[in-house]
Order: sequence, then C-alpha cells, then structure tokens
Amino acid sequence: MGKCPRNEVLRMPYYDYLCQACRRPARLFFTYAEYGVKTAVCPHCQSDTLQRRIRRVALAKSEDARLDSFSDDAMLAGFDEDDPQAMGRFMRKMSQEMGEDLGDEFNEVVDRLEKGESPETIEKAMPDLADTAPDIP
Ligand SMILES: [Zn+2]
Repeated sequence: MGKCPRNEVLRMPYYDYLCQACRRPARLFFTYAEYGVKTAVCPHCQSDTLQRRIRRVALAKSEDARLDSFSDDAMLAGFDEDDPQAMGRFMRKMSQEMGEDLGDEFNEVVDRLEKGESPETIEKAMPDLADTAPDIP
C-alpha cells in the first residue's frame, strides 16, 4: 500500500465518457471539486466532445475484482453522485464489502455525507484530504 491510500480512494472518483469525435471510451479522474468545473478532454484525440456514459463513482485504487463488484449496476441502482447521502451509503456499503476499517477519516467523510453535507463542504472541513489531491493532467 502507498503512503496514504485512504485519501486517494476518497479523492479519485472516475467518470466514464464516450468520445463523440473518435468514438472511443475515455475514463477521466476528477476530484469532487473539479468535476463539472474542469473540461473533460478526450485522452485519445484531445476533443472536448465527451459524453458521459454512466453516472457512477468507483474506486480508482481498488483491485479490479473488487471494482467489478462495486460497479455492479444492480448495486448502484438509484445511486447518484450528486446526492451526498446516497454517496455516503454507497461508501459505507463499499467499506463493509471490503471488510476493512478504512480509518477515521473515511468514516468521518461517510458520516458527513450521510448527514447531507456536500463533498465540497467536507473537503473544506477536512483540509488533510486536500493534501493528497492528485495532479490532473
Ligand atoms: Zn476522442
């Protein structure tokens, strides 16, 4: 494990797109703060004509097998990443499925989400999380 995997898990939701220019799928990573602000650009042809494919958040740092189960459509039915409470429930279920205690920070984020706080509010309230923000190319 790396030096701060928990925070990276929390901060690395990905978004699937289909490029309208080259017709290739593209997976882009945004922090919650960046999503909707940064322009999604196709990593293949640099076009910005990307179309969102599926509304979901998944774990970038997770193992592939786990990722498959988390991204199961049935499990995510009704999941809306713009709904903090749904996201909180999702993250709690995810951690339970992993069978690991993901730590106080993770639990605090889940608690705050379940109370309806937005991810942006949580990031501001928990500045430690921002220290591990990934560089988005
Ligand atoms: Zn493209």
